Amino acid sequence: MNRIKKAACLALGTVLSVSLLAACGSSGSASTPTPSASPSASEPVESSATFTTVESGKLHMSTNAAFPPYEMVKDDGTFEGIDVDIATKIAEKLGLSLVVDDMDFTAAVNAPAQGKSDMCMAGLTITEDRKKNLDFSDSYATGVQVIIVSQDSDIQGPDDLKDKMIGTQEGTTGYIYCSDDPANGGYGEDHVIAYTNGSTAVQALLAGKVDAVVIDKQPAQEFVKANPSLKVLSTEYITEDYAIAVKKGNTELLDAINGALNELIDDGTVQSIVNSYIKAD
Ligand code: GLN
Repeated sequence: MNRIKKAACLALGTVLSVSLLAACGSSGSASTPTPSASPSASEPVESSATFTTVESGKLHMSTNAAFPPYEMVKDDGTFEGIDVDIATKIAEKLGLSLVVDDMDFTAAVNAPAQGKSDMCMAGLTITEDRKKNLDFSDSYATGVQVIIVSQDSDIQGPDDLKDKMIGTQEGTTGYIYCSDDPANGGYGEDHVIAYTNGSTAVQALLAGKVDAVVIDKQPAQEFVKANPSLKVLSTEYITEDYAIAVKKGNTELLDAINGALNELIDDGTVQSIVNSYIKAD
């Protein structure tokens, strides 16, 4: 319990929340630019401020498309998922077309600050550390870190992870919390292995190379569905807020994104996108 509280405060500095967030403030008078081409499927919002994007007419979203159901690659090579669908709607509202740039998670997080993407949307948790290089939008969803173990494991919750080997995905909050010093509520770097993505961490668990995997709940449930010898523990490790990140100081684009996002939250679009991918437990 201590660990959960402490890590949450460290990472978020906010009180934990429990479900998909409703609108977080702004009441819809967004400042977005007048688009050069009028979008068809959506009403552009009134405009005063201007922003630029890395490529004219496009909104580049960096992500790691191995994070179901937020971002996945379809059989035909195109992308789908909660983040992709929300980003598509945001781009429409801004009069832009969405381009999904799929890369390693760490590269996706760094891309906006490096001018390689306009925004990172990747089931991305707001953390104080990331705020050094990025500005975050209002939150549009809540993520929960959970523990995956094999069906016959004696691990029942976070306290049982001490002295075990834990698999995580590199650069993620799961890695950051678990590899932290025990004095700070972690298990120490020696007890954590960082894999390139969640799927390879799960493969390591299946192969007996780690005793548990700590990862976000929705992908965890997808991985377990595909591997019946595994289960997700009901004790949740930590709750976090997902948001869209832009380069620190890019206020014009952030305001435009927030304006569009809050409209999509207020009119129920975000909830219906979530419902189309996540069935009630
Ligand atoms: N929510 C986690 C984080 O932000 C993991 C995101 C991911 O793996 N795509 O670190």
